[in-house]
Amino acid sequence: LVASSEQVEETYIMVKPDGVQRGLVGEIISRFERKGFKLSGLKLFRCPRELAEEHYKDLQSKPFFPKLIEYITSGPVVCMAWEGVGVVASARKLIGSTNPLQAEPGTIRGDLAVQTGRNVVHGSDSPENGQREIALWFKEGELCQWTPAQAPWLR
Ligand code: ADP
Ligand code: MG
Repeated sequence: LVASSEQVEETYIMVKPDGVQRGLVGEIISRFERKGFKLSGLKLFRCPRELAEEHYKDLQSKPFFPKLIEYITSGPVVCMAWEGVGVVASARKLIGSTNPLQAEPGTIRGDLAVQTGRNVVHGSDSPENGQREIALWFKEGELCQWTPAQAPWLR
């Protein structure tokens, strides 16, 4: 039996508006590239309110929901789809805890953020949500299937 962490998966990663404003886009992309995951979608995008609300629909009843939607729609975000073995859980590890003050040093949030409401990056929390979120944020033709020529072993 193959553990789910050994399956090739897809995850939706997004640099949030604070990450874009602070010039952290390259730094964040680098961490996933260097880990060995494969990029299959990438765009800079100003997200409409309805999309932000759909993306975070599970948090609709939370007191911070209106502020969260305001935050995510406050400026452009960088949308990414990443592929790889166990990428969903691994990306969550690279990102670190939701509250950056609890995130370990070495993680993106642990190194680059201090506030839960300004935690620079999103990552899907399950393979199902990875699929759901990629379908939500990308149109069909925007995703790219490819084999890295220099490193076919990444697949
Ligand atoms: P994660 O992004 O780590 O998966 P959640 O799914 O619980 O975390 O929450 C989604 C996003 O909502 C968080 O990344 C953060 O931007 C925001 N958020 C969560 N909890 C709070 C909070 N208590 N106050 C303000 N914003 C919050
Ligand atoms: Mg979440």
